[in-house]
Amino acid sequence: MKSPLEILQTRFGYGSFRLQQESIIQSVLQGKDTFALMPTGGGKSLCYQIPALIFEGLTVVISPLIALMKDQVDALRLNGVPAAFLNSTQSSSEQDAIIARVQSGELKLLYLAPESSFFRRIGSFKVSLIAIDEAHCISHWGHDFRPEYLMLAQLKRTMPNVPVIALTATADRVTQKDIIQKLELNNPAVFVSSFNRANIRYTVEQKKKSFEKLLGFLQTRRDDSGIIYCLSRTSTESLAADLAREGFNVLPYHAGMDKDQRAKHQEMFLRDQVKIMVATIAFGMGIDKSNVRYVVHMDLPKNIESYYQETGRAGRDGLESEALLYYTYADVSKMKKFVEIEGNNAQTEIYLKKLNQMAAYGDLVTCRRKYLLNYFDEPAPDHCGNCDICLTQVEREDGTVLAQKLLSAVTRLQERFGAGYVIDFLRGSHSGKIMDDHKALKTFGVGADVSKDQWNAIVRDLLAQGYLAKSEGTYPVLKLTARSQAALFGRERVMLVSSKEKRETVMHEPAADHEGPLFQLLKKLRWTLAEEENVAAYIVLSDASLKELAT
Ligand code: ADP
Ligand code: MG
Repeated sequence: MKSPLEILQTRFGYGSFRLQQESIIQSVLQGKDTFALMPTGGGKSLCYQIPALIFEGLTVVISPLIALMKDQVDALRLNGVPAAFLNSTQSSSEQDAIIARVQSGELKLLYLAPESSFFRRIGSFKVSLIAIDEAHCISHWGHDFRPEYLMLAQLKRTMPNVPVIALTATADRVTQKDIIQKLELNNPAVFVSSFNRANIRYTVEQKKKSFEKLLGFLQTRRDDSGIIYCLSRTSTESLAADLAREGFNVLPYHAGMDKDQRAKHQEMFLRDQVKIMVATIAFGMGIDKSNVRYVVHMDLPKNIESYYQETGRAGRDGLESEALLYYTYADVSKMKKFVEIEGNNAQTEIYLKKLNQMAAYGDLVTCRRKYLLNYFDEPAPDHCGNCDICLTQVEREDGTVLAQKLLSAVTRLQERFGAGYVIDFLRGSHSGKIMDDHKALKTFGVGADVSKDQWNAIVRDLLAQGYLAKSEGTYPVLKLTARSQAALFGRERVMLVSSKEKRETVMHEPAADHEGPLFQLLKKLRWTLAEEENVAAYIVLSDASLKELAT
C-alpha cells in the first residue's frame, strides 16, 4: 500500500504537502469525520482524492458546480485516476453506464450534485468516504446558501459509519459551527488553515488616471500572466481594446460573449497564449492556473469575500504576486444606488454592510493583510511587511537635529526661498551669485553630510507634519509655522521617517524603452506627479535631468 506522500508524488507529481493537507488526509484515513477550512487554491481537492485512492470502496464527492465537475474529472483521468460524474446534463444511458462502473468497483471517485437522485440508491454501494465540497452552501450564514445542501444531513443518518469530510474556503466561526451541526458530523476533527496568502502583495491606488497608472503597472510585467477585473461587460471590451492598442497581448471575457468564444479565450489564457484577461467576475470560478502574477481590480468588488477570492487567483504557485485595487469612493456611491433602486429589505442591509467593509479596505491607513485576515476571524500581526501600507508606513527616528538645521536655514534665508535653494544652502553649494551673498550666514554648509535626496525627503516629512509650510504660487517658498518654533527651540522632539526606509515607497515607473530622452523624462515626471499628487511642489528636477532635458 502506498503512503499519501508517495501518491502525491507519483500520481499528482508534487513534491510535498501544503498547509494542513497531510494532517487532514491522516484524519480522513483514520475514519474520522473531518472539517477542513482552507483558502481558495490551498489544495482542498487532494484532501479527499488521495484518501480515495487508498480506500477500498468508492469516494462520493458532492459539489454544487456542475460546470466544474467535468474539468475536475478530466484532470483526474489525466493523472490516471478512475473518476466520473453523474448529473442532469447526461442522458439516462450515459448515467446507466457510469452506475455500472460504480457497481463493478472500477471507479474510485464519483462526483455528484447535491440534488442528485443517486442518493436514494447510495446505500447499496460500497462507499468509503463522502466529501462535501463548498460545504458553506449548507449554511444560511455562508454567502452562497443552497437549499439542496440541506438534504445532505441524510447521508450521515443512512450511512453512520462512512466518514464525511466537509471542505470550504469561506466560513467564519458561526458558519463553521453551523456546517458541522447541519451535516450532523460526529465529533469531527477540525482543521482551519490560515487565510494568509503571504506571497500576494496588496496595494490600493487612487482611481484617478487609472488607465495611465495601469499602463505603468503593466509595463514591467509584459511577460506575466494577469487578470484585470472590471464591473461591466462593456468596460472589459473597451479596456481590452485600449490595452491591445498599446501592444499588450490581451483578450476580454464576460458572460455576454458567446459560449464558444468565451471557452476559447479561457483556453488561450490557460495555455499562456494570451497574457492578460480583462474580465468580469464571470471569469475565474474554478480556473486553475498556477502562474497568475497579478490580479487588478479597476472597480470596487462588492464585498471582501469576493475580493479575497478574486485576488486569490494570483500566485497559486507560491511565487511573489500582486493584488492591485483602484479605489474611489465614487464606486461605493454608484453601487449603493443600484441596491437603493432594488428596494429595502434584510438582504439589502447585509449587502450595504459588506460594501462598506469593502470600502473601508480601500480607505485603510493600517495593514491591509491584517484587515483581510481579521475579517475572516483570523488574528494577524499589526504589520505584514507586504502591503502598500506596511511598505510605505515606515519606522521613525529622532530627527530633531536635522529638522533644526533645516528650520534655521529657512529662518536665516528669511523665508524667501524654495526647497531647492534652501537645500543647496545647507549643503554648502557655491554656485550662483545669490549664494555668494548668503555664504557668510551661520547655517551655510551645515548639512553637507546629508544627500540632496535625503534633504528633499526631510522637507516633505516636515511639511506633512506641519513643521513647515509653503507659499502658494508658481515659485513656492518655505515658510515657518508655530510648530517650527517648538522644534527650533527644542520644545518638541521631531520624529522623521528613518533614512534607511525612505526609498521603499512602491513606484510603478515605466521601464526605459526606445523613446527619446525628453519624452522619457516627461513621462517619468508625470509618474512621479501621479504618485505624489499632494507634494507635487517638491518634485525638483535634478541637474542631470535638466541636462538631459536640454539635449
Ligand atoms: P482549492 O479547492 O482549495 O481551491 P485545489 O484543490 O483546486 O484548491 O488546488 C489548487 C491548486 O493547487 C491545484 O492546481 C492543485 O493541483 C495544486 N496543489 C494542491 N496541492 C498541492 C501541493 N501539495 N503541492 C503543489 N500543488 C498543489
Ligand atoms: Mg476546490
